[in-house]
Amino acid sequence: MVLDSHTVKVLKFGGTSVGSIERIQNVAQIVKRRFENEGPLCVVASAMSGETDRLVGLYKTLSEDTQTFEYDLLVASGEQASVALLATALNAIGVKSRALLGYQAGFVTNTERGRAKIQHMDTSHISQICSEGFVPVVAGFQGADDKGYITTLGRGGSDTSAVALAAALKADLCDIYTDVSGVYTADPRICPNAKRIEHMSFEEMMELASLGAKVLHPRSVEIAAKYNTVVRVLNTFEASKGNTMGTTVGPINDLFESPVVTALTTDKNLALFTLRDLQESENVLDRLFTRLSQEGVIVDIIVHSAVHDGGRYTLSFSTPKDDIRLVEKSLNSLDLKASQVDTDLVKVSLVGTGMRSHSGVAARVFQILSQNKIKIVCTTTSEIKISCVVPASQAETALRTLHDEFIP
Ligand code: ASP
Ligand code: MG
Repeated sequence: MVLDSHTVKVLKFGGTSVGSIERIQNVAQIVKRRFENEGPLCVVASAMSGETDRLVGLYKTLSEDTQTFEYDLLVASGEQASVALLATALNAIGVKSRALLGYQAGFVTNTERGRAKIQHMDTSHISQICSEGFVPVVAGFQGADDKGYITTLGRGGSDTSAVALAAALKADLCDIYTDVSGVYTADPRICPNAKRIEHMSFEEMMELASLGAKVLHPRSVEIAAKYNTVVRVLNTFEASKGNTMGTTVGPINDLFESPVVTALTTDKNLALFTLRDLQESENVLDRLFTRLSQEGVIVDIIVHSAVHDGGRYTLSFSTPKDDIRLVEKSLNSLDLKASQVDTDLVKVSLVGTGMRSHSGVAARVFQILSQNKIKIVCTTTSEIKISCVVPASQAETALRTLHDEFIP
């Protein structure tokens, strides 16, 4: 039998969804129902919740270096256990199923230990299994390099596995089953008025994921956009009660209204370095940012004051908190010193493709923040986003007031 791959769907279940034997049995029922009603499916699963953290913890009692063969081999084992259990649960309820490690499902990656990138996918084996009437259950988060060594894709990477598999199979859809009911206009724990978003564009989701929204791994959204794979975010626990409402992330089309602001998010993982009294003639911008990029530091916002009399200016830039040590090392190596390092800051961001066709959005953001006496430390914009860095103590108020102003 030749499999018409356009009819395949990929279903991914996150750690909480497979967090216990009862939950795995619940997932098996969802898979069974969908397989019987909709035909061929591939399943991707994460490790049981807490398992990867446990393995990373064990490893770190022995070594801090997470870019080793052994780190990959160890942390990839969480998924090995969960897919074996899920396939067993499926077989037990009469759904023929086969558990596969990443490499057996055709995930070939580069050799970057602890954060490998998928280089290509060989779906022949998995297509064969599907065409024999089995449901493959694939270990997310992992693959193997060209020598056969197990690799992992970085924390949270099983979303990326699922979307990559869906793209390679030209699947109709990639459903990400998780413990939230979709993507919200803001974190409902902070904004009581937040609403579930029904549709959003790849672009918006990409911005949100990289601005700190935790719901999808940023790399999974990049792949979805590149291969035009529609992704739905669904709640596993509601799905087992028959509710399939969630958020669909897809290309922009006529069905999508484009509100000015689709969603807001916050990111606490930010350190702001300020260097004062720099001499224009010292060429610091060039030397410092070259050094930072050599160290692999991800620089986000850069603010560079006008050069005053005497050729002096102030420079501020932000990086993730984990990179503070690397930044200090880079500064030292250039004989520079930050006069201030702020870590008690939060970046509040508004995202929406509608910003392209509306002017005055930044003005409204600034008005609202100033009316609420919220200090703006610095700000950055792109075509479809505005971010303001504010003191951590004011971040929740900023998020709530901006949300309620832009998302009525
Ligand atoms: N189990 C891995 C992690 O906890 C991958 C994932 O869940 O997406 O990071
Ligand atoms: Mg995840």
